[in-house]
Amino acid sequence: MLTFGHTARAYLITKAPPFSKIKFNKLEMFLVIFAGNIFDMDVVWYFLSGAPIGAHHLFFGHTPLMGVIYFVVFYLLFRKRVKKQVFVMIALALFLHLFFDDLSYLLSLVGLTAHTHPEIFWLYPFDPRRNEVLGNFLANPNSYQYKMIEFMQYYITKTLLVFLLEILLIILALFFLIKNLIKNNIFKN
Ligand SMILES: [Zn+2]
Repeated sequence: MLTFGHTARAYLITKAPPFSKIKFNKLEMFLVIFAGNIFDMDVVWYFLSGAPIGAHHLFFGHTPLMGVIYFVVFYLLFRKRVKKQVFVMIALALFLHLFFDDLSYLLSLVGLTAHTHPEIFWLYPFDPRRNEVLGNFLANPNSYQYKMIEFMQYYITKTLLVFLLEILLIILALFFLIKNLIKNNIFKN
């Protein structure tokens, strides 16, 4: 899943029950959306180092263990400034990022995508699947996508269902965003 999808998904968490009943301020909204994207900050390293962008899920930056570290940092920095529910949403945003990144593989298990290997190693550093996938990557790094355009081509052709789901999430998020904007304007007038 790409940045737009992760952003839309994190925003939708704030609009889902029971959180939709609570009024969150700008900082709280920002933190949830940022948490929904924070794993992908490792992409910067891939761009700078020239490593294949398509392999960025294979390393520590995209593991649940890293998610726990991010969560603890969020908690320590903001525990006195935001509502408790925000941390539940941050935990959800972190978990769902990894879940949606792994979805191309999970759907391939039931034949719905043509993706061939796990993206997220949930039990890292004890996930036995990682050695095999990492070994394949190191033996043949050129089989991974180096450029964003290659990544997009792969994404749309091999994992079309995830791409369509991403579009659906974006449409849903836009619907709630526009609804919110209209509601706020009515209150101002
Ligand atoms: Zn990701």
